[in-house]
Amino acid sequence: MAAASSFIYIYMEENISQFERPEVVIPAVIKVTELAHLLDKPVTEVIHYLLKNGLLVTLNDNIDFDTASIVADDFGFQAKSGGEDTATADATEEAAGELVPRAPVVTIMGHVDHGKTSLLDYIRKTKVAEKESGGITQHMGSYQVECRGKKITFLDTPGHEAFGSIRAQGTKVTDIVILVVAADEGVKPQTIEAIDLTKAANVPVVVAVTKIDRPGANIEKVKQELAQQNILTEEWGGKIPLVSVSAKTGEGVDQLLELVCLTADLAELKAPVTGLAKGIIIEAQQDIKVGQSATVIVKSGILKIADAFVAGSVYGKVRAMYDHAGKRIERAIPSMPVRVIGFMDPPQVGEMLVVTTDEKTARQLAASRKVAAGRKLTGGKADFGALVEQMKSRQGGNLNVVLKADVQGSLQAITGALANLKTNRGGAINIINEGIGNISESDVLTAQGGDAFVVGFKVGTLPGAAKMAKKENTNILSYDIIYNLTDDLSKLLVEAGGWERIETIEATGKVLKVFMSTAKSKIIGVKVTKGEAKKDYLFRVYREEEKIGEGAIKKIQSVAEEVASAASGDFGFMVDINFKIKEGDRVDFVRVENVQSQLIK
Ligand code: GDP
Repeated sequence: MAAASSFIYIYMEENISQFERPEVVIPAVIKVTELAHLLDKPVTEVIHYLLKNGLLVTLNDNIDFDTASIVADDFGFQAKSGGEDTATADATEEAAGELVPRAPVVTIMGHVDHGKTSLLDYIRKTKVAEKESGGITQHMGSYQVECRGKKITFLDTPGHEAFGSIRAQGTKVTDIVILVVAADEGVKPQTIEAIDLTKAANVPVVVAVTKIDRPGANIEKVKQELAQQNILTEEWGGKIPLVSVSAKTGEGVDQLLELVCLTADLAELKAPVTGLAKGIIIEAQQDIKVGQSATVIVKSGILKIADAFVAGSVYGKVRAMYDHAGKRIERAIPSMPVRVIGFMDPPQVGEMLVVTTDEKTARQLAASRKVAAGRKLTGGKADFGALVEQMKSRQGGNLNVVLKADVQGSLQAITGALANLKTNRGGAINIINEGIGNISESDVLTAQGGDAFVVGFKVGTLPGAAKMAKKENTNILSYDIIYNLTDDLSKLLVEAGGWERIETIEATGKVLKVFMSTAKSKIIGVKVTKGEAKKDYLFRVYREEEKIGEGAIKKIQSVAEEVASAASGDFGFMVDINFKIKEGDRVDFVRVENVQSQLIK
């Protein structure tokens, strides 16, 4: 463990307002004694504080950043993540010397029914080696195939949400996206969504035009539509590789794999293999025989049997590992998907599995993360309803947002996605401030000053900030899936855009006679000369081109019968009007629609 003196301690002397606190830099994992030293507090005081919050620790126990930052905050400091950490794989990545080539991890994306699953199934069936007997036979969410002697890892869970939530962890899992577009349907809304996501994540794309065996296939049209989305294939002067395939006949599939291989070569993907391993959980399974397990794609280091690990607030020890073909293995290298047996509880998809030096550290980290999670504000849904109401009364159409995210990668992906949200009335999302780390008092203040609300992505809200937000009625929305964040903000933007009243004159007529007249209600004989008048239209009266009033239609009568509409002829209208009407007045029948603002692409 690093000496406490190696931690940086910054005290900001200048311009300390009541909301600027001294900053302490805390590593991903820290011993209780070292934290006490950093905060310049007796260690007993820190232990007592943790005990009070339900965490039983001794001097030499490790706690994680989230917990330590809460302690720091309550002791009057502002915690920043960084510094040295020796207990987990986080520490070893930088230090790990040698980088070795690794397989690309590929995700298939595209519009629903365009053939993503069929393509994945075809590749798995034709390219994955037969299962070895005796292993686990349950389907795994990822598999590897070989191309020119090199491996390619496929994520077997098509869909944008999976892509979003997994990359949301900051370390993206996908290296290459295969964008599937059906040759008979072309670019559709989810194709565009997939394009936006890959652009935001800056991941190379290979286009697979599927279903080319279908009669309506039109590859040229697909290329043209892709060009309109700025996906320029070679014929359109761009560099994006495109291949036509059929998951039915298998045509083009080898060529597709070849292109993926080529794209991977260009990306020169590498990972360290020394040091404690790390991996991303892509699915979790509960099995009566083996207990809790999960599929993990190794990111760095070599994952081995008996490694202790923590994944979010869950810990465990690798009791057994299986490869995608169900074969028992002892070690897993970067980019390899493995089924890991030995989790104490079900882990969350998208969490990073991090190997620790020993089991005790893993257990302590998991426990302290649980406490930290309990202290965070729970999801933003409760605030969301109130915000929607607030937006409804707002005219102007723009949303001001203070954005906080866990890592630079997510921040970029989110700002990229939000920049694309615009309404047909010119409404847009205006990020007035953005940053990395927990939501602090200064974020809440910025939001208050800028008529904004705070959006947090995979970050907590420091207790001081939560208190302040509550007092001043500032909304904080928290998310851990990018898709949900953009979805909610789209809804708010549409609400903020308000409603537009659109009037259309559907019919005209001339007043023949006033049959009955009370202060509020009248029965009027009208000759409809043009169009068709309906009961839910507005009855608007003009005399010599001057508007004299309008009102709702209560009833339309033809001779003695009530009718639903009136087209060319004489009709009686019972109307709600409180002005005088005369023979010869002109009547317009106006259809009124209230149209909500819409998102534009
Ligand atoms: P997903 O929603 O994108 O995963 O689409 P699926 O893989 O489920 O495919 C939707 C439908 O298209 C299914 O009925 C498939 O059998 C069919 N399909 C997929 N690929 C092809 C193809 O290459 N040729 C033909 N003829 N049909 C296909």
